[in-house]
Amino acid sequence: MDLGLIRNIGIAAHIDAGKTTLSERVLYFTGKVHRMGEVHDGAATMDWMVQERERGITISSAATSAFWKKHQINIIDTPGHVDFTVEVERSLRVMDGVVAVFCAVGGVEPQSETVWRQADKYEIPRIAFVNKMDRTGADFEHVVEMMRERLGAHPVPLTMPVFLGEIFYGLIDLVEMKQLTYVDEAGIPTFNKTEIPNDLADEAYSRRDHLVEEMSGYDDELMTLYLDGADIPEVLLKRAIRKATMDNKITPVLCGAAYRNKGVRKLLDAVIDYLPSPGDIPAVKGENPKTLEVELREPDAAAPFSGMVFKIQADPYVGKLAFVRIYSGTLKTGETLWNSSCEIRQRVGRILEMHANNRIEKSEVGPGEIAAIVGLAKAHTGDTICDPDHPIILEGMQFPEPVIEVSIKPLSQKDQDRLGLALDRLADEDPTFRVKVDPETSQTIIAGMGELHLEILVDRLAREFNTRCEVGQPEVSYRETITRSIKKRTRLVKQTGGKGMFADITLEVEPTAPGEGFIWENKIIGGAIPTEYIPAIERGIIEAMAGGVSAGFPVVDVKVRLVDGKHHPVDSSDMAFRIAGSMAFKEAVSAASPVLLEPVMDVEVTVPSASLGDVIGDLTSRRGRIGGIIERNGAQTIAASVPLQAMFGYSTSLRSMTQGRGIYSMQFARYESVPQEVATQILRQRGAA
Ligand code: GDP
Repeated sequence: MDLGLIRNIGIAAHIDAGKTTLSERVLYFTGKVHRMGEVHDGAATMDWMVQERERGITISSAATSAFWKKHQINIIDTPGHVDFTVEVERSLRVMDGVVAVFCAVGGVEPQSETVWRQADKYEIPRIAFVNKMDRTGADFEHVVEMMRERLGAHPVPLTMPVFLGEIFYGLIDLVEMKQLTYVDEAGIPTFNKTEIPNDLADEAYSRRDHLVEEMSGYDDELMTLYLDGADIPEVLLKRAIRKATMDNKITPVLCGAAYRNKGVRKLLDAVIDYLPSPGDIPAVKGENPKTLEVELREPDAAAPFSGMVFKIQADPYVGKLAFVRIYSGTLKTGETLWNSSCEIRQRVGRILEMHANNRIEKSEVGPGEIAAIVGLAKAHTGDTICDPDHPIILEGMQFPEPVIEVSIKPLSQKDQDRLGLALDRLADEDPTFRVKVDPETSQTIIAGMGELHLEILVDRLAREFNTRCEVGQPEVSYRETITRSIKKRTRLVKQTGGKGMFADITLEVEPTAPGEGFIWENKIIGGAIPTEYIPAIERGIIEAMAGGVSAGFPVVDVKVRLVDGKHHPVDSSDMAFRIAGSMAFKEAVSAASPVLLEPVMDVEVTVPSASLGDVIGDLTSRRGRIGGIIERNGAQTIAASVPLQAMFGYSTSLRSMTQGRGIYSMQFARYESVPQEVATQILRQRGAA
């Protein structure tokens, strides 16, 4: 497909601004949904999960394709909640442009600031849509002003709302200089395009002049015509707006009322006119996993194939669907591709283009396209897929470690039976979600990125998998490690009648650099322990590491060396050495000055200048270390390192310190040792000494 005819966009909005309604209308006008689904009768097509609607947030990242004036618009769903920054960033990563929806009454709310600033970070061009112009109190100019003040944006209105008394009647298109009014004919929404009425002409022409003046700075030809006072051809004005938008210099602003079918078609035109196509964005960067050199992939059908899996979704008809953005090359059904993140070859079963109410089977997809692939059973979100002969790992999709966990207990035997499969499915879809079983209590523990993240997963277990669980208190995932090296001998001897148990081993344990995990070394020479028992010792150690030594948290960053041992010709066995391995490891770690480690987060808080002092004081009282403060678009952004444990309840206190205007994001940074007094408290809570 011609790259210039594709638009990969997301619709971003704070809750209730009308994102779902707008998406619905877009699908309706692009002709793929024949019955308009109203949000309030629950027939909306974009939202996949029931609970999203109930919570009023969108979590899934499904992509839906639609056609408008010969162009293919792929709408990638963006989640709207701050706890899902990973999901937001993941979806932003694969879109080339964003439509930001604001409510004409509420304007720029704190939540829209979050997504806006993330889009700033990725330099994604945006168009703004001021929705709900039909509501009492709607104020287009005010929203434009708020965009300037709160977001540091450079909004440029391309439409002017028209009211008939109190009623939002239509709009004037300042590019085409025509009036659009809207009517319902026998339930089919249509519009009339007319000349601008005399009573509005002065205002409209003065706004148009202002628009041309501003845009002339982005196009020399336009500048010349403007200075000469000549007529401005529409194409020229559009070209300048397009350039300024794509360079992130301006944000075109349109208005409408999605619910009343007003302004939606104009918005679709603007998506095509001003947002970039995949051919307009720079080549994607990645690393060759063999040479470790940086390589680029141009959006060219003849280049080696590369793409990224940005979402895994379970589908009732075909099983696992991997949503992929193709960056370069062409992928055909039946071909084998290389998943360079998992290092496996996989065969492409089917390629599907997902529409609102149907799916189109395709034999191939090319650069810039978005498709759902069937057959990538092992793929995860964030994986790079590529041509096996030209391996690459694309940058930008690293997932943080889960840092918070909670125990779950199935309510009945039936729930128990369903739990395993359900958890597997959820873990496939979500790379930041993990499952384990506590070896001591046999409880199932689920781990994730935040309290809300886990709450939603538990909710999905119940709704989608009919598996009900009792949920414990969320806890931070601590780790244990050692701070000095030690050598320790451990003997396991049981010789009371029948076959006994005998194993004698000497271990050396030593701290490693942070993040190295577990390093195992076998230094036995001369068969003091027969080689066949060595793996059993290692297994015993791994079990002990997982179960923890001081307080039941996994032990990390330890090097273990097996240096000596003895065996018994009758009483030694795999079992004996495995148990001895576990015992020896625990004894050695206990003697090697163990400490607790806690997850420390990189926290970024953006607040109005007036609240800066309070917010910094509060972060310090949460054991936070301030790394720096920068001013960006009139707001202060504080970078800090704060232990996760001290971040519980942060959103509430930030809200009250900043009257709801502060935003924050946090991401796991590293594990650090816990201060003594905090450690004592944690150990006391765990009932350990
Ligand atoms: P979302 O949370 O951003 O997905 O918002 P929804 O699309 O669910 O809309 C929230 C509420 O606003 C719903 O009750 C919609 O019917 C209503 N709504 C959406 N668009 C408009 C509009 O243009 N005008 C008015 N008056 N209400 C709207």
